[in-house]
Amino acid sequence: MKLGRFIIDTHVHAQRHAAGPEFKKLGIDDPKKIRYKDLAKIMPSLVTYDNSKRLLYDMDCYEVDMCILHPAFGMSNELNAQLVEKYPEKFVALAISKETVDKAKAGEIEWTIEAAVEEIDGLLSTGKFVGIGEGMPARPYEETKGWKTYSQTERMDELRKVMDLAKRHNVPVRVHTGSPMGYFITYAFWPENFHPNWIRDLATEYPDVPIIFDHGGMQGGRSETLVDECIQVSANHDNVYLETGLYWTELYYKALADPNVGPEKLMWGTDWGASIPTQTQIGQYPQTFGAQIGKQGIVTHQVDVMGWSLKQVSRLNISQDDMNLILGGNALRVYKIDFPVSRMFKFVD
Ligand SMILES: [Zn+2]
Repeated sequence: MKLGRFIIDTHVHAQRHAAGPEFKKLGIDDPKKIRYKDLAKIMPSLVTYDNSKRLLYDMDCYEVDMCILHPAFGMSNELNAQLVEKYPEKFVALAISKETVDKAKAGEIEWTIEAAVEEIDGLLSTGKFVGIGEGMPARPYEETKGWKTYSQTERMDELRKVMDLAKRHNVPVRVHTGSPMGYFITYAFWPENFHPNWIRDLATEYPDVPIIFDHGGMQGGRSETLVDECIQVSANHDNVYLETGLYWTELYYKALADPNVGPEKLMWGTDWGASIPTQTQIGQYPQTFGAQIGKQGIVTHQVDVMGWSLKQVSRLNISQDDMNLILGGNALRVYKIDFPVSRMFKFVD
């Protein structure tokens, strides 16, 4: 049975990196010898290809009606926009500043938040994108070795420029939280990633801009520290939402149990396409969870994260109307996506 009236995966990557040939050049043939951190180093420079054939297969298989496409790690805005044009009923897309990063990496310009915001402004003005993400605009990932660690004030002032833009275009933003465990996320790249509490200031200063925590604090691993922090911030601020990321069933209950969060603040999302394998530890808590394991090398097949995640959701003993909000209703409302039939979802102020 389909799990909800309209199912939207709010975190999907429909592009894939062709890393094999690059590693062959480096003399590495066996994927088991490729570490995630090596992949992360070359990923932003790799050309990505359209991976929608596999995505459409999974959407059909698990009765997922729509996906919000995210660019990340060198994935192009144009390719996502083309997919939206080809499948307007199935996809909407977010925009991020890829060209600014590419030009900065090539040494053509210096990366600045102003340049990143200008690029996203241009993309949003086309009307082809419904929000900003994945995460807040960031410096070139592979250059971070040379970057200084951000101070909180310095980064917050950058984020305010993005919030100004989002307010002007009336679109939601996303703040990345969590770690897949294989790739590094540093304080020189996305410092807010480890401090959901920083977002309290932005949520207060920009009450009309919806802020969605990518992964709701759980992108991988078993630590619930960031999940707890994301829940606290969402509970305190009407405009802060949690993408449920790689939540196992108990984490959904944890968020739902807070009366200031509840089903109105959760959006189902999987990070489909992100190459984060599911780990199974029989008899332990959690029995299954997503995590890249450094010593195992990279995963080469298309991980079935939609199947795993929907199984976690299906165990929730909550009303179907609440389930419908989590699985699609909240995303329809917050991203202002048209739905052909009225009064199918509980009203939320
Ligand atoms: Zn992602």
